[in-house]
Amino acid sequence: MTIKRFRLVTQHLAFAVLTYGGHFKISLGSAIPCLSCPFIGSCGGGCYLMAFQRAMSWLFLPLFQLIDGAGSWEQVWQTFSYFLSGFGIFVIVVILFGKSWCGWLCPFGLLQDWMTRLRQALKLREAELSNRHKRVVSKLKYVLLAYLIAMPVMVSLGWLPRDFVLAFCNICPAKPLMPIFVGDFHHLGITANGDARSIFSILLMIITGGMVAGMFFKERFFCLLCPMMALINLLKPFYLLKVVKEPEACQGCGNCRRGCCMDNETSYRERIKPNVYDPDCSGCFNCAESCASDGSLAVKFGPFKIFSSSRRYAAKLFAKVKP
Ligand code: SF4
Ligand code: SF4
Ligand code: SF4
Repeated sequence: MTIKRFRLVTQHLAFAVLTYGGHFKISLGSAIPCLSCPFIGSCGGGCYLMAFQRAMSWLFLPLFQLIDGAGSWEQVWQTFSYFLSGFGIFVIVVILFGKSWCGWLCPFGLLQDWMTRLRQALKLREAELSNRHKRVVSKLKYVLLAYLIAMPVMVSLGWLPRDFVLAFCNICPAKPLMPIFVGDFHHLGITANGDARSIFSILLMIITGGMVAGMFFKERFFCLLCPMMALINLLKPFYLLKVVKEPEACQGCGNCRRGCCMDNETSYRERIKPNVYDPDCSGCFNCAESCASDGSLAVKFGPFKIFSSSRRYAAKLFAKVKP
């Protein structure tokens, strides 16, 4: 079985467990580093962005109280250690699997892959994004990460109403789209109360419409903007599972660049360092699998090499790909 096929099977299994697992009493907690949306009532594990936003709405409260002359350092520490119990799990699973949460396990990532397949089946061309535009779009994920931290903190300061605690969820396209898979359409629509929730619902419909079009015409378009990717990127020096390069073995065939679902070029362009980590990498390992130079790209878990590129493997892989 090729890595590509194994990944496809894993993605579908993860989709089933994370979307329907609740029906079978599966609960993987609320620190999952991918968009496994808890707005699906039956989800088997929750996207950490929701828990993280909630934590941001109480984490700094004791500190603010201390600055105001009330509260104590003990309360600050207690709150912080409670936060660490959730964040610690997130950190551990990211260190173990790095970006592979995106390439192998994220249900919203798989939804984007299905849309790409549909576009390909309809024989429509993929939209091009110049490197300059890609760089700009890609930076937005950090803006969204700052937004999803700042809004709940402002709620805790009393500057914003509680509707802003889940400020990112309120505009996240996974919120209306993923519950559709369990027959729940009620996040698709506009709430007309004239309050913050109405404004969020209008924004959500506009963003979701734009993202559906973007994801259909550009492979993994939402991933470029996803704040989960930005959060996972913060732990990049510690990933155990990653792609590395042996630059001297590279024959410059360009298969890695062509095979990358995120249009990354780092694994192709790097000619000196073994580190070919790209901030937009989804950890799919297509690059290593497609590489036709013996030993040029490898997938490593800590010090252990678990896959190494080879001419033979790539020839077998491409022989299986229908023209
Ligand atoms: S970057 Fe893409 S694959 Fe990763 S968590 Fe976000 S939506 Fe999922
Ligand atoms: S709405 Fe988006 S960010 Fe919020 S929990 Fe669902 S997938 Fe995560
Ligand atoms: S750089 Fe490699 S592992 Fe990362 S997204 Fe591209 S093909 Fe996948």
